[in-house]
Amino acid sequence: VLAVSRRRRTVKGPVTLGIDVGGTKMLGLALDTSGAVLGEVRVPTPSPSAIRGLEGDRNALLEAMAEVVSRLAGPLRSSSGLSYLPVGVGVPGLVDDAGVLRFAPNLPFGQGLDIASLLSERLGGWPVVVDNDATCATVGEWAYGAAARVSDAVMVTLGTGIGGGIVSEGRVLRGANGFAGEIGHMVVDPSGPVCPCGRRGCWERYASGSGLGRLAREAAHAGHLAAVVRLAGGDPEAVRGEHVTQAASAGDADARAVLVELGWWLALGLANLANILDTAAFVVGGGLVEAVRLVLDPVNVAFGEMMEGRHQRPEVRILLASLGETAGAIGAALVAAEYGRRKAGT
Ligand SMILES: [Zn+2]
Repeated sequence: VLAVSRRRRTVKGPVTLGIDVGGTKMLGLALDTSGAVLGEVRVPTPSPSAIRGLEGDRNALLEAMAEVVSRLAGPLRSSSGLSYLPVGVGVPGLVDDAGVLRFAPNLPFGQGLDIASLLSERLGGWPVVVDNDATCATVGEWAYGAAARVSDAVMVTLGTGIGGGIVSEGRVLRGANGFAGEIGHMVVDPSGPVCPCGRRGCWERYASGSGLGRLAREAAHAGHLAAVVRLAGGDPEAVRGEHVTQAASAGDADARAVLVELGWWLALGLANLANILDTAAFVVGGGLVEAVRLVLDPVNVAFGEMMEGRHQRPEVRILLASLGETAGAIGAALVAAEYGRRKAGT
């Protein structure tokens, strides 16, 4: 368990900073080598502004990251005498090995931005490593969370979309360019709904928060889900995933049935991944964790039925993430630490 403390404490080993850049907010943490969180800072992620323009938006994004760094580093540097701290940043989208955000449907004004170089420049040359946000969350859960004791795990973050990260044979899979782990865009229905990535029927259109909202609105328009529609203020079109989870937690059977349907789609993708990767465990995290917890039994049943050779192989466990919203920032700090060790040749 990680100790979160804003008080001055004994720092164990080098400190690294991690920033998780979300669509609406950034969370920054300072981490020492024992995994203790020494400081925590939150700032809003700048939203695009027509007045500021694209270059202005990009500058605002880098400026917000620099602000997180300076607020985290200030007290640590004065007490430790360090001249700089390595910085890891997790961002939504495809990040190449050089730290450039190549494709970012969920942070469009950041697309093409060389975050590693530009943030490093802004910080006066401090080392900056940039990685995909879900890959960072995977590193966090693998180091200190639900996947801490497995060599092969896949993290599945269920939010508005689905992010992922793959640990295989004891290391994080990054692929030829650093883009590996985009599990949310595995197509499960070529004639399905359109995805922000430009294709149809991606897994994240079904087994995510937005997928849950869509499944629920379809049911509501067909005259079902009375309790859920009431929670949404009486308008079937206003139904969101959180209304379903709320009603199901309160024992509403119709709402639970929608969650079971969501769970079936989740199980379908997990079984595909398990068949390809021979993983030992899945770690399910993100905003939909509570929804999944409610239907974990039917998810396990559906998952088992879809596994190849299910009776002839060890069980693949489906675990719930344990670091919550801090996983990405913790992982980003660890990615920076790993980079530092690689540079030092140790
Ligand atoms: Zn897609």
